[in-house]
Amino acid sequence: FLSGKRALVTGSTSGIGLAIARAFRAEGAEIILNGFGDDSTIASLRAELAADHVNADLLTVAGCEDLMHKAGPVDILVNNAGMQHVAPVDDFPVEKWDAIIALNLTAAFHTVRLAVPFMRKQGWGRIINTASAHSKTASPFKSAYNAAKHGLDGFTKTIALELAQTGVTANCISPGYVWTSLIESQIPDTMKARGLTRDQVINDVLLAKQPTKKFVQPDEVGALAAFLCRPEAGNVTGANWSIDGGWTAE
Ligand code: NAD
Repeated sequence: FLSGKRALVTGSTSGIGLAIARAFRAEGAEIILNGFGDDSTIASLRAELAADHVNADLLTVAGCEDLMHKAGPVDILVNNAGMQHVAPVDDFPVEKWDAIIALNLTAAFHTVRLAVPFMRKQGWGRIINTASAHSKTASPFKSAYNAAKHGLDGFTKTIALELAQTGVTANCISPGYVWTSLIESQIPDTMKARGLTRDQVINDVLLAKQPTKKFVQPDEVGALAAFLCRPEAGNVTGANWSIDGGWTAE
């Protein structure tokens, strides 16, 4: 159901973004990848997905504009690139705060504002923002991330309302803990911030939140993103879809 559709997925060289790109490709979409990685990894992903890749750094306005210029008009936009930093608020590096707000929130504003005119004109579009369980609830030591993801939820609802009569939908997907490099790389900082061992962080901090006691798999997130692009999902807009093993039900 996605043949003839062009889909740009930011932060799609690994993790959740790559799984979303694979799910779209399986339905026939033309894929534009974005994100960092060594040349050989990117070459093999391009070959696997018959995709283009735009190497833009979304921390800056210029990087976001460069991405949208090089990507050209897209039918589906997934704002997925994100980063995390774990530290007490009074010890939170100022430059990390700025970077997390820039990448996890502000970049979505820039890509959306540049993607919307084409979508509105053609009367069809899908905007999907990878938020997080942390767009609905908080955990300590993640002040910038929680603020950015709550902001992304508010931004998504706003554009859903603005675009409600245009054939363009906008939704958030909010995963709990998905086993990706983003999760793995925050384990040492959480160990330090809370004085715990690696096993304690995995079992007592990360999976403590997820009643299913299982990490979400990236391809499960890909399947949800693909559903939101189906014709039957045309009335699904302004929603924030949890895929978190029951975390935010508590
Ligand atoms: P990941 O680290 O595997 O992937 C992040 C992607 O973003 C990579 O492709 C990376 O190259 C790209 N990226 C990083 N900085 C960038 C920049 N400045 N410009 C452009 N691209 C950049 O992480 P992931 O776990 O797949 O996370 C993807 C999204 O899912 C993020 O928004 C994250 O907040 C969200 N999320 C992840 C989890 C989880 O448990 N992993 C849970 C909830 C939400």
